Amino acid sequence: MEQLPGPVVEHLAKGQDKYVERLCEFLRIPSISTLPAHAGDIRKAAKWLLHEAERLGFKGALYETKGHPVVYAELCPHKDAPTVLIYGHYDVQPPDPVDQWCHPPFTPTIQDGCVFARGATDDKGQFLTFFNAIESILAVDGTLPLNVKLVVEGEEEVGSPNFRAFLDAHKDLLKADFIALSDGEKYRADMPSICYGLRGLLYMQIDIQGPKYDVHSGLHGGSVVNPALALSWILSRLKDDQGKVLIPGFYGHARDLEPWERKEMARLPFDEKAEAAMLGVPKLVPEKGYTILESVRARPTLDINGIWGGFQGEGSKTIIPASAGAKVSMRLVPDQDPDEIAGLLEKYVISMAPVGVTVKVTNISSNRALIVPRDSPAIHAMARSIEYAFGVRPVFTRDGGSIGAVVAMQAGLGIEDILMLGWGDPDDALHSPNEHFSLENFRRGSLASAALLYGLAKVKTSLKPVAKEPGGSHKK
Ligand SMILES: [Zn+2]
Repeated sequence: MEQLPGPVVEHLAKGQDKYVERLCEFLRIPSISTLPAHAGDIRKAAKWLLHEAERLGFKGALYETKGHPVVYAELCPHKDAPTVLIYGHYDVQPPDPVDQWCHPPFTPTIQDGCVFARGATDDKGQFLTFFNAIESILAVDGTLPLNVKLVVEGEEEVGSPNFRAFLDAHKDLLKADFIALSDGEKYRADMPSICYGLRGLLYMQIDIQGPKYDVHSGLHGGSVVNPALALSWILSRLKDDQGKVLIPGFYGHARDLEPWERKEMARLPFDEKAEAAMLGVPKLVPEKGYTILESVRARPTLDINGIWGGFQGEGSKTIIPASAGAKVSMRLVPDQDPDEIAGLLEKYVISMAPVGVTVKVTNISSNRALIVPRDSPAIHAMARSIEYAFGVRPVFTRDGGSIGAVVAMQAGLGIEDILMLGWGDPDDALHSPNEHFSLENFRRGSLASAALLYGLAKVKTSLKPVAKEPGGSHKK
């Protein structure tokens, strides 16, 4: 287990109240990235963060983008020590529906050992655990055990549209050996986890155009091809009732789960009945041949996110609609190329298009899946830090979601060691009313962050990690 120097532990314990107060100050700024009315608050949050970093001795600046600024700051006291790049985001989701909050969303309130506010867990509270760790280490040691760079964006909640361009423009500035972020959650409140994979996302739209305008189904029904019918015909052939995607070539490059991963996932506790009850569905239906956890976290899939066309009002209206359409998204796994899959989907959809209508397929956005080597010294250091701070060994998980910024950092900066931490609990209500973050997780997360910084300082960065079965080359 990674150990922390006693005085750092004491300093963190003594500083907890002050650190909670700092978090509340940050939470009072309604830095909602998607609402233009809050652009001033976004800037205020960025400046606040930079000021706090400078107070700790970091040097940095706000970097303007086409959207909200990126905060960058560094404290790199060593020539021959490794460098960790810590990522976070200072923007938050809108608080709506506000009337469902027990406390005003931007008046942080402490209740039952948790701080309630928008951004408490996603990501202000989790990100500040690194500040707590850094402040206490500096207070005790006078210096950091390694070089630390901070990169905090203000557009994560709107899909990081300008982050990749920022990375490309500042490759040298952002050079590092590891990336660390805490913007997730534990597998279960009592089971801290390390995430080593994310699914990618491909988002497409299908538009079917029929007659120039809605036409009388009595006058034209039987001769004009109905766009809504054409759309249903096409959509019904995208996926079968066994959960298999039917686009030819879709699975061509999809990397399947390794046998050891399947064994490991099978050991994770999962209550299928409880999950179905929570969602209000009669049954969960995984992809044929895979378990539910595998299907949700490590298999590619396809969904229709929205569908429209024709008359939706009360009563009847006898028309053939002029047009119909659908939003279709796919979650991708490693080695699937979003551009290639987009081409395959377009080709397949066009091949099914009945004569008599025009079909258009548009690629709205995409990012690749990610998988990080598990058997690297940095990952081992992270596991030890978590075990030290939370008292249990973390489990390894893959996540079904997609974090565009992380994928962009891997691709743009070429850093393989990405440490995806999560101090939150699964019921922290991120993006929902009454978002909260447990102060105990805030405390333990700070301990783990401090231990991680000491642990990473000892990692020999010339050792190139190999993506093999965990423990394989480290067995004693
Ligand atoms: Zn987040």
